[in-house]
Amino acid sequence: MKEKIESLRDELHKHNRKYYIEDAPVISDYEFDMLLKELESLESAHPEYADANSPSVRVGGGITKSFNTVQHHYSMLSLSNSYSLEEIQEWITRVQKKVPEATFVCELKYDGVAIGIRYENGVLTQAITRGDGTQGDDITVNVRTIRSIPLKLTGEFPKDFEIRGEIVMPHAAFKNLNNKRTAAGLSTFANPRNCASGTLKLQDSSEVASRGLDAYLYLVLPEGVISPSHRGAIFVAGTMGFKVPLKKNRFIEECESIDQIIDFISHWDAARKDLPFDIDGIVIKVDSYSAQQDLGFTAKSPRWAIAYKFKAERVSTFLNEVTYQVGRTGAITPVANLEPVWLGGTTVKRASLHNNDQIELLNLYLGDSVFVEKGGEIIPKVVGVDLDKRAADATEIRFIKECPECATTLVRKDGEAQHYCLNIESCPPQVSGRIEHYISRKAMDITGIGSETVQLFVEKGIISHPGDLYSLTFDQLIALEGFKKKSVQNILEGIVQSKEVPFERVLFGLGIRHVGATVAKKLAKYFGSMFALAEASIEDITAVDSIGEAIALEVHSYFRSEKNAVVLDALVVAGVQLEIVQTEQSRIESPITGAKIVVSGVFERFSRNELKDTIEKYGGQNVGSISGKTTYVVAGEGIGPSKMNKAESLGVSILSEQDFIELLNL
Ligand SMILES: [Zn+2]
Repeated sequence: MKEKIESLRDELHKHNRKYYIEDAPVISDYEFDMLLKELESLESAHPEYADANSPSVRVGGGITKSFNTVQHHYSMLSLSNSYSLEEIQEWITRVQKKVPEATFVCELKYDGVAIGIRYENGVLTQAITRGDGTQGDDITVNVRTIRSIPLKLTGEFPKDFEIRGEIVMPHAAFKNLNNKRTAAGLSTFANPRNCASGTLKLQDSSEVASRGLDAYLYLVLPEGVISPSHRGAIFVAGTMGFKVPLKKNRFIEECESIDQIIDFISHWDAARKDLPFDIDGIVIKVDSYSAQQDLGFTAKSPRWAIAYKFKAERVSTFLNEVTYQVGRTGAITPVANLEPVWLGGTTVKRASLHNNDQIELLNLYLGDSVFVEKGGEIIPKVVGVDLDKRAADATEIRFIKECPECATTLVRKDGEAQHYCLNIESCPPQVSGRIEHYISRKAMDITGIGSETVQLFVEKGIISHPGDLYSLTFDQLIALEGFKKKSVQNILEGIVQSKEVPFERVLFGLGIRHVGATVAKKLAKYFGSMFALAEASIEDITAVDSIGEAIALEVHSYFRSEKNAVVLDALVVAGVQLEIVQTEQSRIESPITGAKIVVSGVFERFSRNELKDTIEKYGGQNVGSISGKTTYVVAGEGIGPSKMNKAESLGVSILSEQDFIELLNL
């Protein structure tokens, strides 16, 4: 019986592949359904032979109450992108300067939901959403229902690897679903991407199965596991049964020159309207993995890839008024208030004008007929003025001189485009903005308090900085108009719970300029505690891997302000997490525990990122540049002579890759 079930499964896997991936079915839908029914009835009669990757899981059936958050094996970075061909050209020049022999691969930029799928011994074991790039949601049950994603591989494959790609909602499936929802009196989805991401988060996998999602897979990890080049890896992945972009329909193309790349871009800029799914640009990658390694990463994205985004839709409308917003850092952002206009699926009433330079560049007058565009960003942009339609008596827009909230004279620092209100202490939107940032989801995640509540508390004078939250009392809040017992309890409970939030998010929550979530994580990991960071010199801070001087200056000066000291003291008293809690794993003692290590050059056994991960795993710290405090330099092929000289002159020990391996007994 077991063999019978297995052979049915194999046959169905094969027909599924023929139909959904190779687009060349050999049996009719009816015959396929009959085979599937037979399998289902055998499986229900013999539950002892159950298999999570049986073709019968394609129809769904499992209910997931909530999706677990899990760590990515390899962080999922987003690509830097550009709307300008000139910038693409500059990027190519930069790449070629560093790696003259580099060639490129152009692919479609699918407008869907990014996914990482792991396979072990040839079967699908886990599928994770991008999430924040380091951890995402485990949506394996739902992904198994997508028929163009193989549950079982064919041919030869590595024992354990990950493939990444994008899950898309094809236009036909999208229309079909929205029609059904309209008929059922349900709300419709705004666009296929929203629909795909909403669908993947459904609790009922049989509903997911019915919606007709599709997927394109285009990145195999770890790099080099099946081919030394990106293009090669995609080709090999195709032989394992994955639906990969094919050269024959020009979904992927190898390019050696900027002309070839531009040709690929212009082809798809015109042809994309005929595709059965949405794309929003073209991705260009350096083909060889060793060249990719040489180019490396910035804090946010790889240097070996860039996305060209297609120009967005453009409409014209009238400018009614310019108003000014004050951010939590005191930055003033001018906002165009527009005659409402339909653009890219929504009604647009406001558009960002960024700063005074932008207003002057556009040469804006009140009542102008303006062109508005919506790109990848949520807030649309004013991109031009129709001068022919300007009224003779129109008045020019003049940037305000005083803060619209507190009337302080605005200042524009040398070299900065933004005007600032420097009344940091008592300008209301700055005070409440800092607290709103502190309680936001990515920071302390204090639920129960919304923006309006924060503004009210600030207005009433009961809080003026994040530290004040911890001294709020029940009696104080219940006395406020409109506050019921239940909501006051929720607020206070949320505040108490925030004391468990890890240090890196507390640091992010302080809202230090340039310190986003990623930088906060790096600083927290490196310094270990708020006290160590507060005492660090600018040089100490720039020693952290990929932390530059601009960030270091802001961090350093933050801890030297008396006003900030008041906030920090309050946080100490409140008992929030001001240091990293050591996990079991990071307590492993090794010869490099606590060592500050610089990695440079190219290695045989490790990619540079793997090497850095290994260092962290064994308790070492990755450091960006060599200084007197550096413990080791791990030197690979092609390390620059200036680095070697510096290490030698400072007496820093230099390890070869082999030395490193022996030191740790790897
Ligand atoms: Zn102000």
